[in-house]
Amino acid sequence: MQTHILGYPRIGSTRELKKACEQYWAGKTSARELLETGDHISLQNWKLQQEAGIDLIPCNDFSYYDQVLDMTLTVGAIPERYQEIASDAGSTELDLYFAMARGYQKNGLDITAMEMTKWFDSNYHYIVPEFSKNQQFRLFSDKIINALISARQAGINAKPVIIGPLTYLLLGKEKEDGFDKLDLVQNLLPVYIELLKELERQGATYIQFDEPFLALDLNEKAKKAYELVYAELRKHFTNLKFIVATYFEGVKDNLSLAVSLPADVLHIDLIRCPEQLDEVLQHIPPTLSLSLGIIDGRNIWKNDFEKSLQFIRKAVATMGTERIFIAPSCSLLHIPFDLDAEGNESILSPEIKQWMAFAKQKVYEVTSLKKLASENPDYHILQQLAENKQAIENRKVSPLIHHQEVKSRAAFTTENDAQRNSPFSVRKQAQKSLQLPLFPTTTIGSFPQTKEVRGWRAKFKRGELTAAQYDDLLKRETERTIRWQEEIGIDVLVHGEFERNDMVEYFGEQLAGFAFTQNGWVQSYGSRCVKPPVIYGDVHRPHPMTVYWSEYAQSLTQKWVKGMLTGPVTILQWSFVRDDQPRSLTCKQIALAIRDEVTDLEKAGIRVIQIDEPAIREGLPLRKSEWQQYLKWAVEAFRISASGVGDATQIHTHMCYSEFNDIIQNIADMDADVITIECSRSQMELLNAFADFKYPNEIGPGVYDIHSPRVPSKEEMVRLLKKAQAVIPAQQLWVNPDCGLKTRHWEETEKALIAMVEASREASAAY
Ligand code: GLN
Ligand code: ZN
Repeated sequence: MQTHILGYPRIGSTRELKKACEQYWAGKTSARELLETGDHISLQNWKLQQEAGIDLIPCNDFSYYDQVLDMTLTVGAIPERYQEIASDAGSTELDLYFAMARGYQKNGLDITAMEMTKWFDSNYHYIVPEFSKNQQFRLFSDKIINALISARQAGINAKPVIIGPLTYLLLGKEKEDGFDKLDLVQNLLPVYIELLKELERQGATYIQFDEPFLALDLNEKAKKAYELVYAELRKHFTNLKFIVATYFEGVKDNLSLAVSLPADVLHIDLIRCPEQLDEVLQHIPPTLSLSLGIIDGRNIWKNDFEKSLQFIRKAVATMGTERIFIAPSCSLLHIPFDLDAEGNESILSPEIKQWMAFAKQKVYEVTSLKKLASENPDYHILQQLAENKQAIENRKVSPLIHHQEVKSRAAFTTENDAQRNSPFSVRKQAQKSLQLPLFPTTTIGSFPQTKEVRGWRAKFKRGELTAAQYDDLLKRETERTIRWQEEIGIDVLVHGEFERNDMVEYFGEQLAGFAFTQNGWVQSYGSRCVKPPVIYGDVHRPHPMTVYWSEYAQSLTQKWVKGMLTGPVTILQWSFVRDDQPRSLTCKQIALAIRDEVTDLEKAGIRVIQIDEPAIREGLPLRKSEWQQYLKWAVEAFRISASGVGDATQIHTHMCYSEFNDIIQNIADMDADVITIECSRSQMELLNAFADFKYPNEIGPGVYDIHSPRVPSKEEMVRLLKKAQAVIPAQQLWVNPDCGLKTRHWEETEKALIAMVEASREASAAY
């Protein structure tokens, strides 16, 4: 039996890589210093795994920005627009690499970055490869080879990890019409072969091909391509051992394909799809080894050894020990580095902490499981098993987790609770009392979180400002923002969200059942990290969360101030969640807590309430067959949160840039009175889904992009509004920016919103 790790977090135990990259980008340090930091992190990671006793240790899982971009550079798929940098003798490979990742504005050049999108259903973003019809590939960067050389020099039994050729192509985007990216494989394969030859020459014995697409819905052509590609690769390598790694889903209908590939090891994710083990065991040929992904690489809970051992025993019973590998379910990239770094002054209670494991702890879990599965586990390891059992048992029955009242309330929630009193047509009449004009203007919630605002919060947390002082500063900022919105003539105002650090953290901190870490950073993209809250127990709302600020803001003005909440699906989606009950149930508990907040806001005189759900689409399961089930509970959760109010109270929701075509019925089922969406960069094209569907409720397509400091002209926005009117009746339209303004400066925000209000007036005058 062997152990291996699919990939390790690379941001560094104290986010060294983030700091090193940002310093380098700011021109404060040299490339050499950055590379030294990178080498140091790789070495630390390898040593840690070696010490834990891992048999096959990944290399090339390290990246300065993104592993997909690394592959793009390796195979030389460099888009045309970077040619000038690529061929400039004064630029290094690192310059080119970061230009592709972040864009380039220097030396008279102005080149946009490559697109970024979410890595499967995680919160990690990768850089999307761009393919042209006559796409050529060549071995361009030797980063992967160097990673292997360094690891071997350090005495590490290293296994290079690369993105498999088909997953690489499937992740990419066709930048012109008239070809299928899968057909590029003919050009791509020779580069993979050249690369593998070099890796073999440098001493590689195993190669891990990451092929998560092999666990997703594949069409016949893609399935055929898998057969051909791996047969071709096999022809060139008789000794090199191939690990084909699937994760995030089960191989399911691709089972016969997966077990027939001429690989040496197949890795399967038994966390996401435990039920696939039996079938795989039935069909696995004697030439293939099986890697059991039994430690959750996507969550932070301690492994239940007893349960994992059952999987191992079952596999051993059919296959013997020789052909079994033990591993986490996927790369550990998606979880924080080290639970020990939480320290003693941690904000995490010791009881909750003992239920958790981060990347480092999970590496040790892998080796412990191997020892436990051996014929004669020694005394120490049996002791560990006993401790593990204790922790698992303690978590199961802990009063910290279980709240009978919350459980009953969720159990007794009925269809009725997910239903507004009246249909939209009736509510629309009742909401006339809001006396809003045609093309009403509003914003999505946040106003600039300036350095000062963030500074106040930091000082307050450090105890340098009293609660009263902090409160006073926030009140002044809120009042200023209300006055300014009144002055420029916005119709539905917002308070600005100055009191919030983050749209999920702010609520998590006030809800029961959430815990926070001090150092639980996870890479989101490039040098950006997030620290997701941990939902460990039954969720409820001990006290109102936003009423104070909304009530204060409303007291300042005769105009309506919109209450501002984050929706249940988004809170769920952006947290580490419980693994001891279905996501749907956790989501329902959050929904009920938000519902209480919504009704309290109404009682406090707030008549317009927005429940943001930017993450509803990204929560879609990877397999289409599971979409409807997810959408059913997700939409219901939103409806539970929104349905406690009277007809005259207007519920808004907001979603960031997303394609709505395939889920428009579900969006309509959410039945928000008003939905605002990100639309401007698509030139209102995203609105077509609503138009074709004849979406009945009101809708605010974003008329300007908030991701850039550029100030849009009134004319531009008028034009976009005309485009919107061409497909949606004017009585249904709102006028707003694409998203919240928290990352913008006041200067551009002021100009843009003044122009936006003028654009709305012009549109209504012309109507
Ligand atoms: N209300 C939030 C804000 O304005 C919404 C942010 C989001 O959708 N991502 O910042
Ligand atoms: Zn948004």
